[in-house]
Amino acid sequence: MSPKVVGILGGGQLGRMLAASASLLNIPVVVLDVGVDAPAKQIIASSSHIDGSFRDKEKIAELASRVDVLTVEIEHVDVEALETVQESHPNVSIHPSPSTIRLIQDKFFQKEHLSSVGCPLGPFQAVDATPEAITQAAKELGLPLMLKSRTMAYDGRGNYLLRSLDSESIATAIKFLGSGSRKLYAEKWVPFVKELAVMVVRGLDETVASYPAVETIHRDNICHLVWAPFRLSDIDQDPALPTKAERVAREAVEKAFKGAGVFGVEMFLLNNGEILINEIAPRPHNSGHYTIEACESSQYDNHLRAILGLPLGSTRIKVGAAGMLNILGSSDGQSSKISESSSPSSSSFADDLLIEKLTHIALSTPGASPHLYGKAQSRKGRKMGHITIVGTSDAEVRERMAPLLSCLSEFEG
Ligand code: ATP
Ligand code: MG
Ligand code: MG
Repeated sequence: MSPKVVGILGGGQLGRMLAASASLLNIPVVVLDVGVDAPAKQIIASSSHIDGSFRDKEKIAELASRVDVLTVEIEHVDVEALETVQESHPNVSIHPSPSTIRLIQDKFFQKEHLSSVGCPLGPFQAVDATPEAITQAAKELGLPLMLKSRTMAYDGRGNYLLRSLDSESIATAIKFLGSGSRKLYAEKWVPFVKELAVMVVRGLDETVASYPAVETIHRDNICHLVWAPFRLSDIDQDPALPTKAERVAREAVEKAFKGAGVFGVEMFLLNNGEILINEIAPRPHNSGHYTIEACESSQYDNHLRAILGLPLGSTRIKVGAAGMLNILGSSDGQSSKISESSSPSSSSFADDLLIEKLTHIALSTPGASPHLYGKAQSRKGRKMGHITIVGTSDAEVRERMAPLLSCLSEFEG
């Protein structure tokens, strides 16, 4: 279809789903990832693999020399290398633009930038990794205090919720957040009633479209469940809320960031109906996986269409409702339930068993589509796969999801 070759920095599950979408339009992709067996590489020809880090300048240059368009499946890439590519390979377009990636990959700069263009945000401030600075931030923002690493943070791994100001708690927080080796900032704890997400897509011609607002449920800072579309309940009766969430997300992307492609906008809903932005990812997003089965064009299809200058596809939800359950690697604690010994392999054995059971249930559930990412090693909190369920109504989707959630609770004990 398109003679253009797309290079993807990162070969994880998002890259894999992007490559799967690309195959439908026969769009050639080349994937750069350090893992020779990375999830995205498993589904494309080995001649399209580049083994190396998406933080390695030479490897990024090698990728650029083989493609027409560069995109990312992760924002923690070497932006300087992308800026060099902009100069040295003027015929290669990069989406999202390196300036957007630079702004987003430092979560503090991202918040400052969003604030400067008038996006609704909770209070936040930079903080040094010292007991004095953290105590001062807690005095200003209150407790509990959300301390976050500014960079290289994902799946909540750079977040620490500080509940008390005694010296032991602060020392634990500082240690968790890299013992002073990483720059930090602090956010006021947001007493949200729900979390929302909206995928926004912008085409090369600046057309902007949004997917329906969805509810996201996080556990231990990691996305656990997504319900689509966002369902009004007794705590948030305002029927205009989903439209408002879409508008907030669209405006944030339009005002704050340049470049074509999908942006995942994470938001908090407060009990007074106010919506605050948590953060924005410059790429397809976990809370948009459901679009593969539930929308007229998936976020992956639309990301490719956007960066290649093709017409954007409809973002409309084509089913009554959908739910998405992430399959995460579990804690070592699980292993003891399965086996007397708690060797690392028994933990991974427990994960294999859980994945197998969940997949088996999904395969016999109407409307369910299991996605397994092909990651060899599971570890706590690692995204191993997901299951999307579609149905004619929210009630039907929840009913279909129930056996999966019960299975998960059984494993968790
Ligand atoms: P991602 O994998 O989405 O990039 P991340 O590591 O960047 O995650 P955040 O999105 O900052 O982490 O936070 C993860 C989750 O922690 C949020 O979805 C929310 O549940 C909770 N959280 C984050 N910040 C706050 C806050 N200020 N107040 C309350 N809860 C918060
Ligand atoms: Mg993040
Ligand atoms: Mg997040």
